[in-house]
Amino acid sequence: MNELMSFNRQKLCLHPESGSSKCSNKIVHAHTIQRAGSLKRIAERGHVLGFDCRPSTLNRTSGRIDVKSVGINEASTFNGFCSRHDNKTFAPLEDKPFEATDQQCFLIRYRAICRELYQKATALSAMEFLRSQDRGRSVPKQVYWQDLLDRHELGQSAGYRDLVARKRSFDAALLTESFIDCSYYVIWTRKVPNVLATFGVLVQFDFHANRLQDLSDLQKQLDAVYVSIIACEDRGAVVFSWLDEQDAACTQFVRSLNDLDNEELPDAITRLVFEYSENTFFRPSWWENLSQEKRDALLDRITTAVDPSKAREPTCLMSDGNSYAAWSVESRHTNQEF
Ligand SMILES: [Zn+2]
Repeated sequence: MNELMSFNRQKLCLHPESGSSKCSNKIVHAHTIQRAGSLKRIAERGHVLGFDCRPSTLNRTSGRIDVKSVGINEASTFNGFCSRHDNKTFAPLEDKPFEATDQQCFLIRYRAICRELYQKATALSAMEFLRSQDRGRSVPKQVYWQDLLDRHELGQSAGYRDLVARKRSFDAALLTESFIDCSYYVIWTRKVPNVLATFGVLVQFDFHANRLQDLSDLQKQLDAVYVSIIACEDRGAVVFSWLDEQDAACTQFVRSLNDLDNEELPDAITRLVFEYSENTFFRPSWWENLSQEKRDALLDRITTAVDPSKAREPTCLMSDGNSYAAWSVESRHTNQEF
């Protein structure tokens, strides 16, 4: 735990070759949604919408996450790399058009893992604060709260352990430039999607409600697929990446997505994003034009995702009868056989 606390305080550079002589002095606000320009394509007056989880907001909404306006320079950044290593590592993503090469799909996933590691360390170091939040409550409520946090912390710690192991294998691939072990599945979209995100999914249920793995088994390294939705020139890409031999459940997860028709995919992706990703940004006018019922349905998903007392339904990724997305599928591209 000491390691975590110092990790969070010192704003370390996460590059495998980091060190005082190799890093630049400046830690950058690294963008986690590929290409700094990506968010510009869904921004209106320089702003996008993101999730609002501030305690004052949650008090007002009885615990439901809301949305807030975010300037694109603040959206989706983390202090995980020094400027030198950020530039060097992610140049193939930032400086070249996205063409879903092995290297680009690898780097998207690598950056998502680093961000998640950083977030998890921050979440663990916030446990002390969370533990103090039961002051003044009745004894049964305090017992319930502490028990909930115990389980939450166990899950978070196991998740952190898995991420450290996962990052280690990706560090090795980064240094040797061996990118071919990474499986990917890319959905090209006709227009820029209104929702951009980068996140990891500990796969639990697939798009047909089949259970894929038991997330309560904390001894086992859980299988995770990484998802990025990015904007290119006049279209977008939804990129799924995983390691076939390490993350076998992910192949089944993506196969269930592959079963869906092109017409079903945009809403299925939207459900997935709101079900799993708090690192999500969307076009303000798209959100404002959704009915209140649809906005509530999406906000309920993300609220469930971050609340340790709520469990997901097996059917969570199946159609909820709503249509959300305003983009269509151009083509699909994968290095896997389905
Ligand atoms: Zn560095």
